[in-house]
Amino acid sequence: TIGMIAIDKNGNISAGTSTNGLSHKVPGRVGDSPLMGAGSYAMNGAGGAACTGDGDIMMRFLPSFQAVMMMKSGMEPSLALKAAMAPIIQYYPSFFGAMIAVSSNGTFAAVCHGYKTFPFCVASPSFHEVKVLKVQCT
Ligand code: ASP
Repeated sequence: TIGMIAIDKNGNISAGTSTNGLSHKVPGRVGDSPLMGAGSYAMNGAGGAACTGDGDIMMRFLPSFQAVMMMKSGMEPSLALKAAMAPIIQYYPSFFGAMIAVSSNGTFAAVCHGYKTFPFCVASPSFHEVKVLKVQCT
């Protein structure tokens, strides 16, 4: 899955995903990626979030919606992502997945679980080129 979050110069926030789904997926399986609130979510004035990983588990928790709602209440993206991911890890400790988030002020973060590291890219008018960053997973 490729998850993307964009903020335009007027502050409009969009999020979306593009995925080939899980390998060996059952024909007709939808997965989390196209479901708003599960695979991705965005709200002007709050932020955007997107997920990758085991969608059959993630879609039960609406982690993107959760993260955006927490950013709406003023939480930093890194804390919002940890809080959105926490119940998934609690109920499914062997789950693997990652999330990215950007708040409406452009602060961004990523979290992951079950992988070693998770790479993600950030583009901003304040950078000369796209940055490739990496987070350590839990
Ligand atoms: N989340 C996707 C799915 O379950 C898979 C992925 O992120 O690679 O369909």
